[in-house]
Amino acid sequence: MSVLDLVRPELRRLEPYRAAEQAADVTRLNANESPYTRGSATGGTPLNRYPEVRPRRLTRVLAGHFGCEPQQLLVTRGSSEAIDLVMRVFCRAAVDNIVITPPTFSMYEHYATLQGVEARQVPLAADDDFRFDAKRVLAACDDSSKLVIICSPNNPTGLSAGVDEIRAVADARRERSVVVVDEAYIEFAGTPSAYELLDEFDNLIVLRTLSKAQGLAGARCGGLIARCELLDRFDAVQAPYSMPTPVVECVLRELDDASTSRYSGNIRALIDERDRLAAALADLACVVRVFPSDANFLLVRFTDAPAIACACRAAGILVREPGAELEGCIRITVGTPEENDHLLGVLTARREACA
Ligand code: PMP
Repeated sequence: MSVLDLVRPELRRLEPYRAAEQAADVTRLNANESPYTRGSATGGTPLNRYPEVRPRRLTRVLAGHFGCEPQQLLVTRGSSEAIDLVMRVFCRAAVDNIVITPPTFSMYEHYATLQGVEARQVPLAADDDFRFDAKRVLAACDDSSKLVIICSPNNPTGLSAGVDEIRAVADARRERSVVVVDEAYIEFAGTPSAYELLDEFDNLIVLRTLSKAQGLAGARCGGLIARCELLDRFDAVQAPYSMPTPVVECVLRELDDASTSRYSGNIRALIDERDRLAAALADLACVVRVFPSDANFLLVRFTDAPAIACACRAAGILVREPGAELEGCIRITVGTPEENDHLLGVLTARREACA
């Protein structure tokens, strides 16, 4: 028994799309492309030709960035595409289920619904700061639980799941479920990546993105990291040519060493700002609790959250009200020092008005 046996039976032997051959310095009459480039395409490679089916150089560079082997990485359109792919590769409609821990990223349930799959809920406990609890998650799994999704750090509550908790789930579900660890915010956490467990567990998948700490949300680029033997199944399912030429070129430019080291100061600054903002918010009378965060946002319980959101909006600041399961709470993304001061000013003025 291997993790490949967890793949949907009809996908176990699915051949990847056989794309038209691509070579330089030849006459290309094999892909129904136009031979003419458009004058408006300025800079970069002309767009009349398809990109590579899988972007090989970007895969190598991103693997270096994420600290994995290129053969373990599938480059995706943000981690959103990777979430969709894991549902489609493993889950049979109306048969399998996935296990998630709300409040968590809403797209897990969304993609499960698109695939016709039940999303089994194991709520995180507010009185334990929404800490991940492996025992409760395992108790909810059954023979049809194909995926356990661990969002670490968790959006919108903030804490990471410890590597020991992730190991406990991967170990108990060996040969039965794939454990997907979504590390969209890991750069802000200072905790090790679950990637270090990949040698130990073939039923582990790690999702990464350039959208958060790396400041490239507009580029739509992320990655799915899995054992090589599994990567081939994702390759068969992901659309060919999924990474557009301008995105590949832009990300390669942005991830060069000079740009990355210049940018890393921003990540440290955001972590410092998160801690400063958390302390300042905790001092306000309108704040009931600032939950601990390993990410670039804070979940805050207010005495009157709707009024706070309204006051922020009136001052030109958008914050996120996460919905019924977190009533009374607002999620605040950490901004620049000036943006955070603006927010604190609005909340302080409100307190004085209330006093
Ligand atoms: N995972 C988590 C936990 C997120 O919060 C988000 C975006 N909010 C994503 C994945 C998707 O990010 P992207 O597709 O931009 O990589």
